[in-house]
Amino acid sequence: MGQDWVDKLPVGFVASEKSLCNELELSADFCAGTGRVLVVSDDKAVPLAMDLAGRKPGLKVRADVGAWRHLNATENEPLADVDNLFGLEGWYEQNFPLGGSVMGYTPSKFLRAGDRASLCALLAATESAPANIVTRVAIEAVVLEARFRDDFFDDLAPHQGRKFSFIFADKKDPLAEYQRLDGLRRLLTLHPGSEVDHVDPLVAADALANGASFVAVGASSGRRMPKRPGDPGGGRNAAGYLPGLFNVELLELRSPMIYADWYANSASPYCHTCGRALDVFETTVADKSVVIGHNLHQTSAHITDLMAQPASDRLAWLRDVRLDAHASHMALNPQGDMVLHRSLHKFLELDDPMMREMTRAGVWK
Ligand SMILES: [Zn+2]
Repeated sequence: MGQDWVDKLPVGFVASEKSLCNELELSADFCAGTGRVLVVSDDKAVPLAMDLAGRKPGLKVRADVGAWRHLNATENEPLADVDNLFGLEGWYEQNFPLGGSVMGYTPSKFLRAGDRASLCALLAATESAPANIVTRVAIEAVVLEARFRDDFFDDLAPHQGRKFSFIFADKKDPLAEYQRLDGLRRLLTLHPGSEVDHVDPLVAADALANGASFVAVGASSGRRMPKRPGDPGGGRNAAGYLPGLFNVELLELRSPMIYADWYANSASPYCHTCGRALDVFETTVADKSVVIGHNLHQTSAHITDLMAQPASDRLAWLRDVRLDAHASHMALNPQGDMVLHRSLHKFLELDDPMMREMTRAGVWK
């Protein structure tokens, strides 16, 4: 067991027990069946991951106990739960014994952009993590913008060659900004082989094409858009709630109810794997599970298509896929009043050779 897990199948999934859509069990079944890595992101991640590893033979599972979700790092205490007699070494041994069935992450607290002292303290404290532990760097996504990123890159530079697993968080939709997506590409160029998780399928694909060794896509929106400690929670979902469904033709993640409106006068999108139209769902537990399951297989297929391209062609291939998705969106929406997926919108602007801006509905300015 080790990093060789991810070499051939560089996309995994992040799931939590908190979801109302049974995403943890569904994701575990999918990952066990396809050899992909499941990241359990939950306050009870270690017992949940141990339980899943015991029940699902062959499951490759990592546990993220997620101190970063609740606590801000300080220079003196960048890590959680290690201020006892046995310290960090004891924490590793107790939670993730070498040779055990579950891999893990350092118990990193959350880093605020510009708090360089805490970042440096965290990087120093985690320098000698055992082989089954990946160094978690969970930080405000704004750190990727021009005003912060040179300092961020300077602080990471002495640790070149280490493997980091990055989480970028914000109040909502952390990475879908022009400068942040650009900054993530630069970060991966400086630290090839890094991991990025808690992202959407579009960001995941772009990260892999830019040198990430592993990405983990959130099985539902809470795990695709991680929040900072203290940010307002998503709250309970409304009665008519259906999770976002990955429509690969449009590179969209909308509720099927939105697609029903978009495709009102067009042929419904259809999934041959699920054997059903993608714009007709009930708000039942069974149908919500179909949405989660569709996202898992469709994301995997999308990333598999990307990785089947020669490494030097992946960026161009992805650009073309995004241009096709944009064209499909505009064909479906000749009135120009349907807002584009925010990540798609920003990637299109980022890669436009004429450096144009685009309206939220996808019209070049
Ligand atoms: Zn499907």
